[in-house]
Amino acid sequence: MKTELASKLRDYLKPETLKVLKEAADIADREQIALFLVGGIVRDLLLERSSLDIDIVIVGDALSVADRLASVLNTKVASRSKFGTAKMKYSWLTIDLVTARRETYSSPGALPTVYPGNIRDDLFRRDFTVNAMAVQLNAGKFGSLVDPYHGLDDLNKGLIRILHDRSFIDDSTRILRAIRYEQRLGFRIETKTSINLRKNISMIGTVSPDRIKHELMLFFEEPLPEKAFHRADKLGVLARIHPQFHGDAWLSKHFQKARRVFPGHCGLLYLCLLIYRFTNNENRELLRRFNFTRTETTAMTQTLSLKSEIASGFHAGMSPVEIHRRLKQFVPVAIYSNLAAAAPGKLKQDLELYLSKLSHIKTSITGDDIVAMGISPGPKVRKYLEIILEGRLSGSIRSRKDEELFIRKLAK
Ligand code: ATP
Repeated sequence: MKTELASKLRDYLKPETLKVLKEAADIADREQIALFLVGGIVRDLLLERSSLDIDIVIVGDALSVADRLASVLNTKVASRSKFGTAKMKYSWLTIDLVTARRETYSSPGALPTVYPGNIRDDLFRRDFTVNAMAVQLNAGKFGSLVDPYHGLDDLNKGLIRILHDRSFIDDSTRILRAIRYEQRLGFRIETKTSINLRKNISMIGTVSPDRIKHELMLFFEEPLPEKAFHRADKLGVLARIHPQFHGDAWLSKHFQKARRVFPGHCGLLYLCLLIYRFTNNENRELLRRFNFTRTETTAMTQTLSLKSEIASGFHAGMSPVEIHRRLKQFVPVAIYSNLAAAAPGKLKQDLELYLSKLSHIKTSITGDDIVAMGISPGPKVRKYLEIILEGRLSGSIRSRKDEELFIRKLAK
């Protein structure tokens, strides 16, 4: 396995990743401390999948290795913690360095108590066997796999398995993680793990809303998040988080539509669709419970206000000016969520017209230009700009010259 893994490291990792690993290993060799690559990157390497994060475990002082590594890579240690963990960025990579540790949980869902430990201890604190493997990087041992919990067997069998019976009790965010990995990798939650998971679903109540939200938002980073939502729904996990969260056929269909209509990363759009069937009150209650960012809050709230605006105020045959007037106060993601949820027809076309064309139309003239034409600064200038914009939207104004002529006419 050693030679095979060593060549996998060389063949599958990007040059930047290899550089980081080599520099880190050189520093560790000089200090005579053991250094390992762990977690997702090892799993992905064995599966021959790419991975964006580098997780390194050091049996010794990770902070001092982090300082030296940052200086060799000409980057900065972005954060460090009292548990001996450090984080830095290098090129597009995020690098985490941790001091090998043992963890114990005083009560379900609480943060663990941390002690220094060896690599075995460090792997034992992890969520699943497939994430509990390490590859040593020191010279002489480069490429040796450390796999005390038989992660490689489970990887070959396609199984997500916890390391011990209290795993979901200690930290029930692992329930969401199990579902996410299972669906991403096309694996199966192993039978005993699955029985244990079902038995401990109520433990989700012991975890802080912030941690639940964090894991849920990671669903949105998956290529097909609807699969994880569907599985979480079937297992009764989703309803534990919120009774109105549904990973049903509606959600799948609309997540797929979201990917078709939205040009960029769909994370926020998925969130808007997850709450699209909420009432305003349900949404307010959700916002109170979880610590959503300002951007998320605006997107969710505006999704629901646009939905009611569409139901009550939109009608067939609206002019471009009217479409613009009705939609301009909404953030684009709220419009995209309503577009993804809209049935084909005129309304859908209006939203598309706004997003693809009307929202990009601007006046050429600015407020300062209008003042320079002799209009006194004040509300009148804003009014004129609005009129000019509407002229552009309706097509009656087509050029800068038209705009200036129009202002002169208005000013007379
Ligand atoms: P991804 O591909 O989703 O980024 P990852 O395995 O790199 O997967 P991270 O969330 O970055 O996942 O975590 C890194 C490693 O830390 C995991 O592989 C796992 O070993 C461990 N880990 C993360 N969260 C937990 C947890 N809640 N309980 C136990 N171990 C965890």
